[in-house]
Amino acid sequence: MEIANNLLELKKGLPPGVQLVAVSKTKPNEDILEAYQAGQRVFGENKVQDLAQKYEELPKDIEWHFIGHPQTNKVKYMAPFVSLIHGVDSLKLLKTIDKEAAKNKRTIRCLLQFHIAEESTKFGLSEEEAVEMLDKGEVQKLQNIEIAGVMGMATYTDDENQIRKEFRVLHNIFSVLKNKYFSAADSFREISMGMSDDYPLAIEEGSTMIRVGSKIFGERNYQNKN
Ligand SMILES: *Cc1c(COP(=O)(O)O)cnc(C)c1O
Repeated sequence: MEIANNLLELKKGLPPGVQLVAVSKTKPNEDILEAYQAGQRVFGENKVQDLAQKYEELPKDIEWHFIGHPQTNKVKYMAPFVSLIHGVDSLKLLKTIDKEAAKNKRTIRCLLQFHIAEESTKFGLSEEEAVEMLDKGEVQKLQNIEIAGVMGMATYTDDENQIRKEFRVLHNIFSVLKNKYFSAADSFREISMGMSDDYPLAIEEGSTMIRVGSKIFGERNYQNKN
């Protein structure tokens, strides 16, 4: 009951308008089902293969989010069912998602990922790169994708001011893009930010979607199956 309790405890503290993506990466189906039975329907994975397998095996009313950075050659495996792709940071990837969505007669919602952290290893666009990409007008022509907002990850640190500053940067990028390109698009409305260690700050800074794993499912153990 640990997972169900963690989940319900967490949800109690969420203001309306903030959606919870339960990040189930590396976790077995039985853990996901426990959260499902406690009412959770939105889950996130960061490996396309795991996502596709869990989709096959678990209840079909689960809404699956891809929270990583997909390789273009893997997009086809999730295109039939994925409901939101959080980690999109290039025109090339958007074009691939559009093509695979069209094959499935679907529209796939995508979030543009921004690099807001100090760490240099994380994926993501800068505001300038996004503006340059959107100014070309090619993204707007893609018929089978919908840009639903922005996503980012803050630096892994204890420094709350630093984290807050980075979330503010993402919120500001959202506002700039909204005004410049998406003011008429209701669908552009999500700010995906906040994880187990920093989601309360993210919510204070305007997050509409938090991605929480270990706080619900426990620490991930990549060595053992625990
Ligand atoms: C793993 C992961 C999360 C969840 O991390 P926790 O710290 O376990 O909550 C959120 N977002 C992304 C992109 C992730 O890869």
